[in-house]
Amino acid sequence: MPDTPLTKAPEVEGIAGYVTPYPYLDKLQEKMEERLARKVPLAGRFCGFCYARLRETDAICPLCNTATAERPTVDEIPQDVLRAYKAKQRTEATWVYMGAFVGLIIASIAFVWLELWGPGILGHPATGFAVLIGGGYLLAQLTGPLISGQFGYRKGARKRDRMWTEFLAKRDGGGPPAA
Ligand SMILES: [Zn+2]
Repeated sequence: MPDTPLTKAPEVEGIAGYVTPYPYLDKLQEKMEERLARKVPLAGRFCGFCYARLRETDAICPLCNTATAERPTVDEIPQDVLRAYKAKQRTEATWVYMGAFVGLIIASIAFVWLELWGPGILGHPATGFAVLIGGGYLLAQLTGPLISGQFGYRKGARKRDRMWTEFLAKRDGGGPPAA
């Protein structure tokens, strides 16, 4: 059978198996979160295409390769763009918290089970508390950032990318000019 993309199993690529069609968005995510948290000055010199912060000397955006001659820089990031990054951040965080919560619930159930039915040393309260605290912590790490965080990343990145697509369409993509 010829080795065409159709017969090949899809390869897991990128982060958590989701490849963003806009690699610069992933690179910008952290910077945008700093901006959302107002840890950096709101005004600046930003790429006119992707809104990466540029140095005074940059004539070409290091993230999307847009030349400032081609698209003039802007001095702040549009709200619609920030909203897309916020959606990603919030979605991912929600999944991480929910996953961690599931881990804690499992540890609590194990604790109650051990206290009620645990035979011998397993029924000792010290074992129960070790399971509740240590196990709860480890499980929350596993079910939170490690497992649920993957879904969160995918869902969040998809949402952000969709919002960016819509933003690009509104900004650049034809449509009747606003009257
Ligand atoms: Zn750019």
